[in-house]
Amino acid sequence: MNAGRTYLDYNATAPLRPEARAAVVAALDTFGNASSVHAEGRRARALIETARMEVAALAGASPRDVIFTSGATEAANAVFERAWQSLFVSAVEHPAVMAPAQRCGADLHVIPVDASGRIDVGALAGSLDHVLADSSRRPADSLIAVQYANNETGVVQPIAEIAALAHERGTRLMVDAVQAAGRLEIDQRALGIDYIVLSSHKIGGPQGAGALVVGDEAKLNALLVGGDQERGRRAGTENVAAIAGFAAAAAAARREVGDVTRLAAMRDRLEDGLRAATPDAIVIGGDAERLANTSLVARPGWPAETAVIALDLAGVSASAGAACSSGKTSRSPVLAAMGLDDDIANCAVRFSLGWATTEDDVSRCIEAWQRLARKRNGARLVA
Ligand code: PLP
Repeated sequence: MNAGRTYLDYNATAPLRPEARAAVVAALDTFGNASSVHAEGRRARALIETARMEVAALAGASPRDVIFTSGATEAANAVFERAWQSLFVSAVEHPAVMAPAQRCGADLHVIPVDASGRIDVGALAGSLDHVLADSSRRPADSLIAVQYANNETGVVQPIAEIAALAHERGTRLMVDAVQAAGRLEIDQRALGIDYIVLSSHKIGGPQGAGALVVGDEAKLNALLVGGDQERGRRAGTENVAAIAGFAAAAAAARREVGDVTRLAAMRDRLEDGLRAATPDAIVIGGDAERLANTSLVARPGWPAETAVIALDLAGVSASAGAACSSGKTSRSPVLAAMGLDDDIANCAVRFSLGWATTEDDVSRCIEAWQRLARKRNGARLVA
């Protein structure tokens, strides 16, 4: 961690956990190719297979269903390699899901969310029934793609309800669990989710690693061909060090899932402190079930980019809405789908906490916000 800084942008990327760093370093010395039969190759293979068990446990999946990828974006893209007929995709999906869904050529039905950002399950059911009433549309060639929890608001989606609907209608279900992994209990087998997308760097593993879980009955057309790695489902020599680091982070994150009270208490204290300094601040998605670590706060009249720069100068790292591709300042499709006015959406600053966040971080962030409020009020008085 950078000394003197308060890092509150875990939903963009989490700091590398010490156990993940140690696993990466140790694996870098295991130079064998996991496809080789000799001792070095077998050692690399053993690391990957142990990692597969840890990552499977994070998603409540069977190890044989886990395919390692270069990240969640690749995992999501791979799902859309199949020739789907119809897609039912929530309006608040990350671009890693929305863009390949738009490109793949299937009929695309965008499912709305309500004002608090929850997927409208009734609208999803209606859309499924309408489309599948046409006998040329095969349920098994239709895919519902939703996220477990939103990266901007932290709002948690009713996945069990959506999974039940997918099973009733006979469609396939893909869940982007990037932000939920390590923060909520995920049970792929119990819910019968066909595809789960995971990312290493959101849970304190290295960047450039992720996984796709493909359930027993789900099919996959490999995105990358040219080798038998990952049982022919993802060609290319494995990134053993990144996979080992991902697994170490997964093991640590899984231990924390049951104890989100620490994070929730810090998040609540942060929100109380921000609202005390600026009583007109709004917590977006605050009335829905949210991840314990995420807070999206808008103070009308404070453009998010300006607030984020001012916070940065004060030593606090936060982000303006979706920061997965930082520097982007375009309108958030997530907040637009929630029906938020631009004058609030453009002021949304995201704070996301995680494994290394301390009470001092929260205090420093509140103090920085208070200073910003004092300056802003002063500026307005002078003007
Ligand atoms: N899905 C969600 C919800 C995300 O927040 C991100 C973040 O970037 C991704 C997918 C893409 O993950 P990755 O960086 O591993 O490609």
